[in-house]
Amino acid sequence: MRLILLGPPGAGKGTQAARLAAKFTIPQLSTGDMLRAAVKAGSPVGMKAKAVMDSGGLVSDEIVVGIIADRIREADAKNGFILDGFPRTVAQARALDELLAAMRMQLDAIVELKVDEKALLGRIEKRAAETLAAGGAVRADDNPASFKVRLDAYRELTAPVSAYYAGRGTLKTVDGMLAIDAVSSAMDAQLKAEPAAFGAAK
Ligand code: AMP
Repeated sequence: MRLILLGPPGAGKGTQAARLAAKFTIPQLSTGDMLRAAVKAGSPVGMKAKAVMDSGGLVSDEIVVGIIADRIREADAKNGFILDGFPRTVAQARALDELLAAMRMQLDAIVELKVDEKALLGRIEKRAAETLAAGGAVRADDNPASFKVRLDAYRELTAPVSAYYAGRGTLKTVDGMLAIDAVSSAMDAQLKAEPAAFGAAK
């Protein structure tokens, strides 16, 4: 199963991707998590990415495509993966098509979580409060100012990715405003509805 989860920040992609990863025993590939790990490790990629991530902007296509190109070649991704937070631009989606074509792989599904934008900031603030209560470190970009930049980046650069896949007739949508379990059920139903793989755009 090779799957892409799309949706704005705070839509619940990470939560659903983790559930699907456990269900299908395949890795959840979150470029956000990988970038945060690079920042923490102080690697050259992390040092380049930190300021733009903290402000809520997008890291360059070159950096994230490089990260994904390396990651999907690792052994644990051989039988599938769930992309969470990638692709976030049409250029990234095109680069992914090329990568997969070169590896003779196909995507099985692209699912977009649809959410009411008015609910998103509240969700992000809730996540920050829960992390804090659990003694964890709140993400540097989980604050209203960075969130606004993230939402703007989503509207301008990532929403067209949905259109890119929809234009190929390969986009499924799920109501992300439902309770977490109900979203998972809706997602299962969507994934069962179309088991056939499809190829990259010509
Ligand atoms: P996320 O954890 O998915 O919300 O990502 C956190 C931050 O990492 C984003 O706001 C971006 O700065 C950066 N990031 C993650 N994935 C990508 C991507 N595919 N393209 C560009 N920047 C990304």
